[in-house]
Amino acid sequence: MPGAPAISSLDRSSTLDRLERERFDCAVIGGGITGVGIAREAALRGLSVALLEAEDFSSGTSSRSSKLIHGGLRYLAMGDVALVRETALERRKIHRLAPHLAEPRWVVVPTRTRAGLLKMRAGITTYEKLGAVEGEDLHRNWSLRELEAEEPILDRSRFAHACVYREYLTEDARLVLANLRCAVARGAAALNHARVDAISQENGRAGGVEAECTLSGRRVRVRARSVLNAAGPWVDRVHQLEDPQAPPRLHLSKGVHVVLPAERLPVRNIVILAAADRRSIFAIRRTGAVFIGTTDTSYEHGCETWPRITREDVEYLLEPVARTFSVDPVAPEEVVAAWSGLRPLIAEPGKKAHEISRRDEIWIGPRRVVSVAGGKLTGYRPMTRTAVEKAAEVCGLRLAAPPAQEEPLPGGDFDGDLARLSARLRLETGLEPATAARMVGLYGAEAGEVTGRGPDPLLPGASVLSGEVDWAIEVEGAATLEDVLYRRTRAALYEPSVREALVEPIAERMAKRLGWGSARREHEISAARERLASELAFLGESP
Ligand code: FAD
Repeated sequence: MPGAPAISSLDRSSTLDRLERERFDCAVIGGGITGVGIAREAALRGLSVALLEAEDFSSGTSSRSSKLIHGGLRYLAMGDVALVRETALERRKIHRLAPHLAEPRWVVVPTRTRAGLLKMRAGITTYEKLGAVEGEDLHRNWSLRELEAEEPILDRSRFAHACVYREYLTEDARLVLANLRCAVARGAAALNHARVDAISQENGRAGGVEAECTLSGRRVRVRARSVLNAAGPWVDRVHQLEDPQAPPRLHLSKGVHVVLPAERLPVRNIVILAAADRRSIFAIRRTGAVFIGTTDTSYEHGCETWPRITREDVEYLLEPVARTFSVDPVAPEEVVAAWSGLRPLIAEPGKKAHEISRRDEIWIGPRRVVSVAGGKLTGYRPMTRTAVEKAAEVCGLRLAAPPAQEEPLPGGDFDGDLARLSARLRLETGLEPATAARMVGLYGAEAGEVTGRGPDPLLPGASVLSGEVDWAIEVEGAATLEDVLYRRTRAALYEPSVREALVEPIAERMAKRLGWGSARREHEISAARERLASELAFLGESP
């Protein structure tokens, strides 16, 4: 990859100048996995690209997922074989591009009876065939003794059998950033906190977009030969900028996850739990935290970046814990963090949210805007390739052939051995083992460079390093405290014991790097604190 791909927040005004000055092949609206996937594919195929994101890159659904790179065994049961095949095959490809963002993990499926186990194995065997899984990655049974060693808190008096199969755990927000940086390395211009509020016209066709930088108030007009709408749950709203009468196509479904300290629920792998309505949910270990999710309920309140989490959502997720593990029931008051997001599903009238297919759809509007919605994080590459090819066809753009061999994403240039990478980082920097493991998990082969910018913890005892703040600003386009806390360091999700305490030191460092005055600094601090508190607002609801 040519040069170190960087999206710097130190000079947003020059990005705004560039957006206004050039005429691009593609203007992409939305910086979730769909938008950045489009930007990367278009840039790799020789097109010039401008990407505008209303809030932060990945701040929509693409930072609220279950963080699995998976084909979705559940969708096989729904008969979505083509979708499952495509996404199951994608797993290894994403692992090859960014091994730190697709870490192989065992998924434990506990069953009560041998008949249940055999039925499960039959489904998993089909799933593995579709995904061309082989060798060490094939599923296996765990004996009671193995279960005791590998997943000791599972209630073995209820679950005498367990089958395990492979899936991959990602860091969704960081997968988005890695793809976007890849596009930027190929010349794309990208700006977050820049909301598109109009689609401009040239000879009756879309000729670009108009946007406002929400941090400076500056407006820009971006000229482009094609416009792609990748606004996720907001795709209908953006489509209506082009065609005000267009009926909505999406069915929004809310998905909630709750976080517990790992000491409270020391799960080691990814364990499948059966919720009260028999839906499967996951308990997933990530550093010092375990998250449980997800719900899947129709959301009637329109598009929101932070859909409200209710006590009912939380109780639904916690209820199966004591039925599955040998632990005391977990009360909502023990939840230390939570997140929710909206799935932009393609509506299927008469079906409930969890019954709707996760397929994607691409459609062309009257001004030739290409809109893309639906799908899954895992299937972003094939989905966005089709979208770019469609845009090229509709708007007469010349596409280069896809690269024969895709280069690794930023941070992905290593042999996939995270333990070895982590050991090397420790040797070079003297970091504690847990901190080094966290750093390579987030930054892959770039962890050394990030650490080099500031190896001291932001707080005594915390594993978040001061260099991460500088890296976030200089290389990953972080412009607000929330950007760093939630989507760059992910401390809001996985560092529950220190996330509140990190707010001030992050603000301090950002203020120095970005030249914030005291009013801006105070505003950022109170906005971040409000955000953290809002996740747990369900505690105010009566039981
Ligand atoms: P988004 O990530 O929402 O991106 C759209 C972006 O457009 C947003 O950032 C928004 O701010 C921006 N935008 C909106 N309007 C404008 C405008 N006017 N101007 C500029 N920008 C604008 N998939 C998996 O593969 N594995 C999983 O484990 C998984 N788990 C999931 C769990 C939950 C709870 C949910 C909700 C989804 C899950 N998914 C999973 C699905 C996956 O997360 C989504 O399919 C994917 O993230 C959608 O990405 P997107 O880019 O289309 O939308």
